[in-house]
Amino acid sequence: MQFVRLRLQGFKSFVDPTELVIAPGLTGVVGPNGCGKSNLLEALRWVMGESSARAMRGGAMEDVIFAGAASRPPRSFAEVSLLIDNAERRAPPGFNDSDTIEIVRRITREAGSAYKANGKEVRARDVRMMFADAATGAHSPALVRQGQISELINARPKARRAILEDAAGIGGLYQRRHEAELK
Ligand code: ATP
Ligand code: MG
Repeated sequence: MQFVRLRLQGFKSFVDPTELVIAPGLTGVVGPNGCGKSNLLEALRWVMGESSARAMRGGAMEDVIFAGAASRPPRSFAEVSLLIDNAERRAPPGFNDSDTIEIVRRITREAGSAYKANGKEVRARDVRMMFADAATGAHSPALVRQGQISELINARPKARRAILEDAAGIGGLYQRRHEAELK
């Protein structure tokens, strides 16, 4: 699975529709302080199902919606789309029946988040599980947030364990065990 395109609209500072083509290999994002580099990475994390507003540097998830600027009114929704190349058919079951997968997450003020996979409504859980499962393979993606390295060094043992477990890609397994225990 290879990310090929990220589209943002009304997400944080990306108020107008913005498209980022992700070519194979290494991609660098450069720009002055505050231009939106971290926001791009957050958009990627967000469309993959991030549920923590704190991880988005906000107090509530709605804070990802463009909040307005001197000359622009706030937006009522934010939407991020991630296009994935699945020509090699490595996607987890349920997502593996096409050559490309487009995941769209949209959040509307007061109505929360909704997800679609190739135009079909899916649950947040399905999207998270797909990426968690994809991450357990040999072609695992890894996202390292700004400041995360120093966090790892300074973390208390329990928090450090959570970070390492996340890196090991066993998040999906814990989620399944948790759900099994509830049943
Ligand atoms: P640095 O180089 O300092 O790490 P950066 O390029 O990573 O900077 P970001 O942190 O991605 O910059 O972008 C910060 C900008 O995004 C700020 O100007 C902030 O006002 C803007 N921003 C964040 N959330 C919103 C929002 N909901 N609505 C409008 N603007 C927002
Ligand atoms: Mg930054």
